[in-house]
Amino acid sequence: MTLTDPIRIILVGTQHPGNIGSAARAMKTMGLSQLVLVAPKRFPDPEANALAAGAEDIVQQARVVDSLDEALQGCRYALGTTARDRAISLPEYTPREAAAVLLEHTGADGQVALLFGRERTGLENEELMRCHGRVFIPCNPDYASLNLASAVQVLSYEIRLRRLELELELLPAKAKVMDEGEPASLDQIERLFVHLGEFMDEIDFHKGRSPDMINQRLRRLFLRAQMDEREIKIIRGMLSDAQRLLAQKK
Ligand code: SAH
Repeated sequence: MTLTDPIRIILVGTQHPGNIGSAARAMKTMGLSQLVLVAPKRFPDPEANALAAGAEDIVQQARVVDSLDEALQGCRYALGTTARDRAISLPEYTPREAAAVLLEHTGADGQVALLFGRERTGLENEELMRCHGRVFIPCNPDYASLNLASAVQVLSYEIRLRRLELELELLPAKAKVMDEGEPASLDQIERLFVHLGEFMDEIDFHKGRSPDMINQRLRRLFLRAQMDEREIKIIRGMLSDAQRLLAQKK
């Protein structure tokens, strides 16, 4: 993914090198690799490598540029993350929506960007205005500011999830249901109910009371489980074995 990863994580004006390392780590755990740093205060810095903890390659490959213009070069789409509301009218996305939108805009040749602001002051309005939309991580309204690297983690995770979803959608239907059998048909389920009814009579479960209420509840339980054919077979197999043992005892 390293060379072709179309998602560019841009950190603007990062003050603490430790956050660059932690952001790199957050990215790598989620399979992202392209980090661009716009005018970082201290970089390179041993603290960045220390906090990268195994993601030093991302830190070392990070591209350092002077301006957001340079960072955005070659990008076809950009979203900016913000911890608070700004007097800017931009479409606002949740991290989940943002991941979907970003991936929609990636193509064979296209790059998309996700911007993160400074620890203390975030992104400037002019920087946000370069973006197609903004992303807000819904959080405690009384304390809405996540650590920079934590914000990178949340967004990277959502991108990962969306990618996995897309991969699953592309898999042939058969592979998707790898371990599931065919869903049971209604008459298979009905035969299970009949079998269960016989069994309960054999063990005198109802003891003269009406079976209606219990049957209704069991019916609801089994229907809710959306069983497949194999599962029905297992339950009916158990019932048959129990019936056989009962018959031997008589
Ligand atoms: N006081 C600053 C906080 C910056 S936190 C501000 O108001 O923007 C550093 C960076 O982490 C932010 O610029 C943003 O990129 C990201 N971030 C922190 N909390 C966030 C949140 N709730 N939603 C989206 N991004 C967030």
